[in-house]
Amino acid sequence: MSKTSKENSIVTRPPVVVIMGHVDHGKSTLLDYIRNTNIVDTEAGGITQHIRAYEITHKDENGLDRKISFIDTPGHAAFSKMRKRGANIADIAILIVSAEDGVKPQTIEAWKTIEEAKIPVIVAINKIDKPGANIEKAKMELSEHGVYLENYGGNIPFVEISAKAGTNIPELLSLITIVADLEDFKGDKNKEASGFIIEANLDQKRGIEAVMIIKNGTLKKSMWVLAHDSHCPVRILEDFKGHMINEASFSSPIRLVGFDKMPKVGSEFTAFEKKSDMIKFEEEIGEAPKNTKDNETNTDKKLIPIVLKADTSGSIEAIEKEIDKLEVENAKFKLIQKGEGNIGEKDIKNAIADENAIVLGFNVKADNNALALAERMNINIMTFDIIYKMTEWLETELEARRPKVTTTEITGSAKILKVFSKTKERQVLGGKVVIGEIHSGQVRIMRRDAEIGRGKIINLEKDKAKTSVVEEGREFGMMIESKVEIAQNDIIETFKIVEK
Ligand code: GDP
Repeated sequence: MSKTSKENSIVTRPPVVVIMGHVDHGKSTLLDYIRNTNIVDTEAGGITQHIRAYEITHKDENGLDRKISFIDTPGHAAFSKMRKRGANIADIAILIVSAEDGVKPQTIEAWKTIEEAKIPVIVAINKIDKPGANIEKAKMELSEHGVYLENYGGNIPFVEISAKAGTNIPELLSLITIVADLEDFKGDKNKEASGFIIEANLDQKRGIEAVMIIKNGTLKKSMWVLAHDSHCPVRILEDFKGHMINEASFSSPIRLVGFDKMPKVGSEFTAFEKKSDMIKFEEEIGEAPKNTKDNETNTDKKLIPIVLKADTSGSIEAIEKEIDKLEVENAKFKLIQKGEGNIGEKDIKNAIADENAIVLGFNVKADNNALALAERMNINIMTFDIIYKMTEWLETELEARRPKVTTTEITGSAKILKVFSKTKERQVLGGKVVIGEIHSGQVRIMRRDAEIGRGKIINLEKDKAKTSVVEEGREFGMMIESKVEIAQNDIIETFKIVEK
């Protein structure tokens, strides 16, 4: 790789920290405490709005001023979505656990999310000021769930804190800087900014505005921002305190006003020097990048018809409620006819009219004519005398009859570090696996988070030897067949099509 002066613009950037944990374990209290004790706003009015991201300056153990950004995530699910293609919204996670309550379901959920994101974690054992606090018990429960703390069989750093009283909060902040130093997060100041949308709302006076966190590059006035299919000129740019600024860089939270469409929370944004660059980019990729392209599913639900006969109107009502509840992503039941009394010939005829219908009886029988007709016409009659048995059967039936969904599952993504040669449609490239593992076969080629084309890996090499798979963190060489010209920093994704 050639060393140019451009590389000098790659510098260490402050970490973006997220706090996760079970409800009531003190996430908001901790975020508030850090905000209140570390942010001095000299202007009257101060921070008027409670925005979901802020930046502090903390004096580290060497007396150096260190910036740290905190974000309040919009729920675990959204957080997970924010980590496609190697980009994480947060660089470090703090798993907060109450010393009073110990490990709770959402603690485990948060832990899983953090593990999946593969970001460094710091455990904060909170509420140590409480009389009922039992720090040792909390630590033990953590290790029972695979969270192995330093000196407790693992290497996860931890601090015992009181978010309310402020105990050991400076220690927590210093620990964040130590972890950040170890990880050495980098950013390129010369790049056009990119990052994530943290929140978006419509302000009656100002229009659509968004709080964003810059993960790389610089955002300047007169640039343009594209987030999925929302556009915004960089005209009204504010820091997280609401002060007008002319430019911002990583890892600062900012607010931008003037989007033409409400940007999706959690979506990535990219900045462009000129509006024409942005339009050209959108044209190049054919259409606006889709956030959900990993899950190309059919949203039309298949309806499975049911003819229902039961002993009383009360039973019918109860069963209808049960049937209503049964629904999967792409299928549900539809009651085409219901009535009291035994199953007769007429009911079977109704079922024939609707292909694939099921005839259900509850506390009733099917008469002989109905049975004969059903057999001739290959209609399924099922009778039950216990509702939950009926529900269980319907559940299995729904699963069996629902259309199978084909999903593209990304198996890994890799960054292209070098382009060695190009001949016609064959390109020889070098790169590194960022997430998962990559294998020979079909690939998607991504640029700035949008698919720019597809290709096929026809040769894959690891340590100069042929291989069929390269694992996370490893470098590789490969030959790809593609109509798209792949460039340095492009991301390639290998995937498989699975039927579920
Ligand atoms: P969240 O749901 O995780 O955001 O939890 P909150 O920050 O809302 O805290 C839940 C409750 O625990 C609130 O009543 C807080 O005042 C209290 N709390 C949080 N941290 C501490 C602490 O360190 N000590 C004590 N005594 N109470 C705390």
